[in-house]
Amino acid sequence: MDVYDVSDDLIKKLNDWKLIGIISGKFNELKENYSKVNFVEHALIDFKYMEKIFLNVKLRENKCNKRSVEFRMLGNEQFSLKNRKYFQALELYNKSICYAEPNSEHLSIGYANRSAVFFEWKRYRECLANIELARKANYPERLRHKLDKRERDCQQLVQQQAPDIVPYDFKLSFEPHAQVPYIANCLELRETADEGRFIATTRDLVVGDVIAAEQPFCSSLLPPMRYIRCATCKQERYLTLIPCDNCCSVMFCSEDCKQLANDSFHKYECPIIDLLHRMFNKIHGIALRTTLSALNLYDSIEELMAYCEQPSNQQKCVFDLDFTQLTPQEHYRAIHGLVTNQHMRSVSDLFQRSVVCAVLKHFIIEYTPLKDFLGGEDGRNFFTDLLFRHLQTSPSNMHGIDLVEQVNETKDDQTHSSGAYAFLSLLNHSCAPNTLRIYDGTKAYLFVLRPIKAGEALYDNYGAHFAIFSKKERQERLSMQYRFNCSCEACELDHPKYKGMPHKATVPMVNDDTDMKLLGAYNYDFAIGNYQKYCDFLTEYGAAYPCAQISSAEECLKMALHIMADAVPLKAKM
Ligand SMILES: [Zn+2]
Ligand SMILES: [Zn+2]
Ligand SMILES: [Zn+2]
Repeated sequence: MDVYDVSDDLIKKLNDWKLIGIISGKFNELKENYSKVNFVEHALIDFKYMEKIFLNVKLRENKCNKRSVEFRMLGNEQFSLKNRKYFQALELYNKSICYAEPNSEHLSIGYANRSAVFFEWKRYRECLANIELARKANYPERLRHKLDKRERDCQQLVQQQAPDIVPYDFKLSFEPHAQVPYIANCLELRETADEGRFIATTRDLVVGDVIAAEQPFCSSLLPPMRYIRCATCKQERYLTLIPCDNCCSVMFCSEDCKQLANDSFHKYECPIIDLLHRMFNKIHGIALRTTLSALNLYDSIEELMAYCEQPSNQQKCVFDLDFTQLTPQEHYRAIHGLVTNQHMRSVSDLFQRSVVCAVLKHFIIEYTPLKDFLGGEDGRNFFTDLLFRHLQTSPSNMHGIDLVEQVNETKDDQTHSSGAYAFLSLLNHSCAPNTLRIYDGTKAYLFVLRPIKAGEALYDNYGAHFAIFSKKERQERLSMQYRFNCSCEACELDHPKYKGMPHKATVPMVNDDTDMKLLGAYNYDFAIGNYQKYCDFLTEYGAAYPCAQISSAEECLKMALHIMADAVPLKAKM
């Protein structure tokens, strides 16, 4: 059961009982968003939905040694000589570590088992780190000889391990913008009747130019990644993750990240973490995280209220701000100002969104310390309004933070987190984009992918590229999530997909099988040595777009930049 099942069921009931007209009429008359959400919340309580959710969905799994042992056994099976499925084993060991009761030996045995995986992988530094974690967690005396031996072997071999890859330090290609120092000074916001708001450049740009390097206001890890990455910094650390002390669904790369989380978002999410993961999707997740991150900027809810109600803080975007005094509060102004499109939404859209908001706010207020922070009715209503706002802004503004595309892996494995980016949110979509986002951790770099002339607009791709999806598929995706009909050049001219793309006789081929082979093997030195070659080619032959040679070079450039930013999962590197 997820929150959409609840909303579908409620609407079906109201239809069956012929109440839908009355209820939606009343709902529509309510002016304030919090009144709409409160109205829906009462209906959900009256019809016993909240009770049903409470009885059927665990708010939070409890630590449990028995389950910890079960997961460890499953991990051992994957790790066995017969299977040698090390990644599956690691995830299960991490799960076992999360379920272990504090101060029990199961925690330390989990770390010790993890060290064995790293020993097999010849990753001796991580192996030693895990041995240390096991010792600190009181590894049982009776098993100690095994650990001692592994430690001695490791110390002898650790010199052989190659150093970790340090992500390439990309720098802006131009002087920074006077107000927004993390974008190039040639970018500006424009507005026309046809295009609405868009970003344009005031100078010619060539392929490979770095025009923005943006940190998100906040980001949120997707649940499938919870035993693979740190919930705070989102770094992939199968290696040395430590569990939350209270829940079984969140891990951190260090005590510092754990502390940061517990001082901010996780203190509110932890008591209902498993309900959050089960009932809500990633868009709801980032909407909640954005709201909690805003609360966290202030000592009291009244201060945040005063800030948001101040007219000079409303409907702002990054270009209205002074980012040279970049404070998190200033950063939030641009996130708060993202458009909600509320006036364009139907009653049924708003009703469904209100169900999501009502369930979310009901459980987070009732069962977590948020109740104390919000105080009385004013605080709760303000929180509800803010959450409702971000539930509207997130679907079209959140960005999936993704990694290099891996052969044989699903698209789901490619995206690990969602982030709220104030500047990137202003870029319009094209199915044939002229820019490219690459992430180093959660920091987004924006590269020029096709030559752009002074005065032209910059386009991002919202996950509907013409080389991969047909025009029909793209139009469906875009109108569903982003509510617009795309009229980009690829849609107007109906560019063929990658497979049907013609070779153009006048255009040479910049890459051959060697490029594909070495980039496919995530060869860092090759990527650094060759990415400029792809950039120069794409700049020189930009006018011949689209053709097979250009698509192929674009793929090589994307791979090379991902490799340089180390946006490659461990799974692919092993
Ligand atoms: Zn971390
Ligand atoms: Zn927790
Ligand atoms: Zn299009």
